[in-house]
Amino acid sequence: MKIMKFGGTSVGSAERMGAVSQLIPAQEPVLVVLSAMSGTTNHLVQIGQQLAQANVAQALVLTDQLEQRYKQVVAELYKQDDSKEKGHQVLQTVFADIRACLHKPFSAAIEKIILAQGELLSTQLFQIFQEEKGVTSVLLPALEFMKITDEDEPDQAYIRENLQKQLAKYPDHHLFITQGYICRNHRNEIDNLKRGGSDYSASLMGAAVRAQEIQIWTDIDGMHNNDPRVVKNTYPIAELSFDEAAELAYFGAKILHPSSILPAQQHNIPVRLLNTMQPQAAGTIISSKRTGKEIKAVAAKDGIYAIKIKSSRMLLAYGFLRSVFEVFERFKTPIDMITTSEVAVSLTIDNATYLPEITEALQRFGTVEIDSELTIVCVVGDFMEDKPGAALKVVQSLSQIPLRMISYGGSKNNISLLVNTIHKEKALISINEGVFSERGKSHE
Ligand code: ADP
Ligand code: ASP
Ligand code: MG
Repeated sequence: MKIMKFGGTSVGSAERMGAVSQLIPAQEPVLVVLSAMSGTTNHLVQIGQQLAQANVAQALVLTDQLEQRYKQVVAELYKQDDSKEKGHQVLQTVFADIRACLHKPFSAAIEKIILAQGELLSTQLFQIFQEEKGVTSVLLPALEFMKITDEDEPDQAYIRENLQKQLAKYPDHHLFITQGYICRNHRNEIDNLKRGGSDYSASLMGAAVRAQEIQIWTDIDGMHNNDPRVVKNTYPIAELSFDEAAELAYFGAKILHPSSILPAQQHNIPVRLLNTMQPQAAGTIISSKRTGKEIKAVAAKDGIYAIKIKSSRMLLAYGFLRSVFEVFERFKTPIDMITTSEVAVSLTIDNATYLPEITEALQRFGTVEIDSELTIVCVVGDFMEDKPGAALKVVQSLSQIPLRMISYGGSKNNISLLVNTIHKEKALISINEGVFSERGKSHE
């Protein structure tokens, strides 16, 4: 079986849905994973925000606006009256569910029910569209098999067992459609895999059915060597290893959800990034293959906090770092970068939920300094020890930018540099010029 995930822009209009349906092979077993139509989740987030501020009237106005947009979609998407009728029935149920939420006391659980409606809409509308074209498909409810644990981690055993169960109900079918992003949590409430989570859904589902390939269809021709939203003259990378792609996704390449590579990697399932607007383009293939000793790409992750702990107790002491790490473990806060000197250790986090508690706990060990509005610039490639000069080239290209921290050698796939967020754009452009300009020219 193949997994084909289509992102928000790919299903963003009646016309785009038509293009997607052309891409689905007629006979092969396929599980199609859909995001919400572009703009929808943002709109639902706004409804939730209004509700959180007890602004029910404004939440209702936003809900009406969204419903109007979907009425337009139904009018454009279907030719036949009975399809239009089915489409309107879907809208009626979904928008009644949203409005019911607006009249309940606001809670995180209510907000997540609202956020889930985008994927519930897109999948149902797409299935009716397939039906109108005479293509038989089965709509699988993701809420019946996608689950996260009390630690907010996917429950892979549950997903595998229950997705298989769902598929086994339809032995004579080969086209399945389901929702990305949404899942249930350990309390069985509706939840989600965080923004951009449909990629993660696709990868988890691919792992669950041991798919032969996971295709992520989006609005760009694969993973580019740099962030195309910030830098001109970026180009697609033909091949990446799982490790390289995972680093890029984790460190901010928006084309992939930060966690979406691991489930595929665990089962050695190739991930292909493809462009719905340009389906013939080669895109990027991500696999276990090692792909050349060179610098491949750079990504940047904002919203980083640096924590420096200075302590003379660290001098010649062992066990100091363990005590520091235990604090982060206790507050379930992952550390991204770390550098040490004889008397100080600096590390970075991106989740500041427990920052006050962490700071207080660390103050037992020495002086603690916190800095915010930082960005990790992560350069990814195959930096074997036998490839001299790679790190130098990166650092040299950043000669005009103050570097707060540098991390090299933690893995052979990355060099991470911490900069002030105000320098991010310049850093990405400088790396493009200093590291990628020659290869960029061959893609022109
Ligand atoms: P989808 O809605 O299909 O999930 P996303 O907007 O989440 O699409 O991801 C695709 C976007 O990611 C691209 O349009 C591009 O602007 C952005 N992006 C950021 N970094 C990269 C990169 N290194 N390579 C490709 N695209 C990137
Ligand atoms: N619709 C969700 C979002 O906008 C999930 C996704 O698109 O991947 O974040
Ligand atoms: Mg996305």
